[in-house]
Amino acid sequence: MKAKLNKIAIALGGNIGNSKTIFCSAISELGKGGVENIKKSALFHSKPENCPPGSPDFTNAALIGEWAGSPDELLKLCQQIEISTGRPAKHDFNAPRTLDLDIILFGSEIINSPDLQIPHPRAASRLFVLKPLAEIAPDWIFPGINKTVKQILQVNNRI
Ligand code: ADP
Ligand code: MG
Repeated sequence: MKAKLNKIAIALGGNIGNSKTIFCSAISELGKGGVENIKKSALFHSKPENCPPGSPDFTNAALIGEWAGSPDELLKLCQQIEISTGRPAKHDFNAPRTLDLDIILFGSEIINSPDLQIPHPRAASRLFVLKPLAEIAPDWIFPGINKTVKQILQVNNRI
């Protein structure tokens, strides 16, 4: 029997190296790792927030896809891909990075384990996550908040 496919959303960010090339290879690796039917946003650019002084600007994007494994398995795949782009496994908080892959949504699941929180706890307040995600999944309802990505973005844009 085929495993149930869950709809997943991932935010991509980076501020070292050629983010366009790094994102393309990360998306290809996610596909090889089992993420199906990937749809990606355009690239966005943002200023560093809560980062060490002098941090380079960020490139951001989002993707949605389908995943037959568990949330933890998806986190492991994301972390392997981050490391394969040269991001050290151990790194300082908000240090410049080649690639950050954050799982934003996993179907309508709410997960609160020590290593994994879904929806990603800071996603709903980050324009650099909401803007790309709204391009490809405007009507996805954030569990817990019970508003769509588009509605959360509109509220944030008014603040
Ligand atoms: P940040 O994404 O905030 O810059 P890191 O990429 O260094 O920070 O991630 C730190 C930790 O966040 C990871 O070790 C991972 O276990 C944890 N984490 C918790 N929830 C998530 C999530 N939804 N997606 C990705 N990582 C997560
Ligand atoms: Mg991360």
